[in-house]
Amino acid sequence: MKILRIVFLNLIILTLCACQSDFSNSDVLSQVSTIDALLDGVYDGTVTCGELRQLGDFGIGTFDALEGEMIILDSRIYQVKTDGTAYLVDDNEKTPFASVTFFKTDKKIKLPPGLTYKQFEKMVDLLIGSDNLFYAVKVTGNFKSMKTRSVPKQKKPYPQLKDVVKHQKIFNFKNISGTIVGFRSPQYVKGLNVTGYHLHFLTEDHKAGGHILDFTTGDITLELDTKSDFFMTLPNIKSFRKSNLTKDRSKELKSVEKIH
Ligand code: ZN
Repeated sequence: MKILRIVFLNLIILTLCACQSDFSNSDVLSQVSTIDALLDGVYDGTVTCGELRQLGDFGIGTFDALEGEMIILDSRIYQVKTDGTAYLVDDNEKTPFASVTFFKTDKKIKLPPGLTYKQFEKMVDLLIGSDNLFYAVKVTGNFKSMKTRSVPKQKKPYPQLKDVVKHQKIFNFKNISGTIVGFRSPQYVKGLNVTGYHLHFLTEDHKAGGHILDFTTGDITLELDTKSDFFMTLPNIKSFRKSNLTKDRSKELKSVEKIH
């Protein structure tokens, strides 16, 4: 029934958005597939990076066959592979899961140095207006430390994400400048997306990065963009249609997304 509800929600949102074709002038956060489908191994890409760039200039996600971590910054899409390199991606590449928006700064504030990821979360929690809206989170500056990861390309039959992360590659940066790109999503989207913070990193030279596991801040500036419209497109492919999306996967998600 949950799939039906999601599809129904999608239809309503699609209808609402049909009369609002210019997403660049709105506060829409767009999403491809659901996090629980990704946890269940639905890794076939269904939306091209060219299509994704129509929906935003800022975002995160992954690629076909779960090959690496996606960072969308200033309309360019980067793929951090397990070799630690960030590659500029062709518009024909596809994604099975991504969140994207047009970033417009609503709030800009300098944060103190020395914050861990956990302390950063608590501080930003105090700065946002409501637990019930989405926020695009952008942080630029220097980090005393940054720990990221990437995941290797998978072969069919695709394993579950919890098993893939056993083979993740971890990258440790010291005194690194760059940009955090990500989102803070409400608790009620459990199953649809990562609740709380989901952040990726791209170095200032755009040559490395990944999915953030931990960091300590240096001299940084936080920018927040409040998002009150939500658009989802679901993959109408066999693996998604047959995926069990009724299970509570919150523990699995916690084990694959973060260290703390
Ligand atoms: Zn991620």
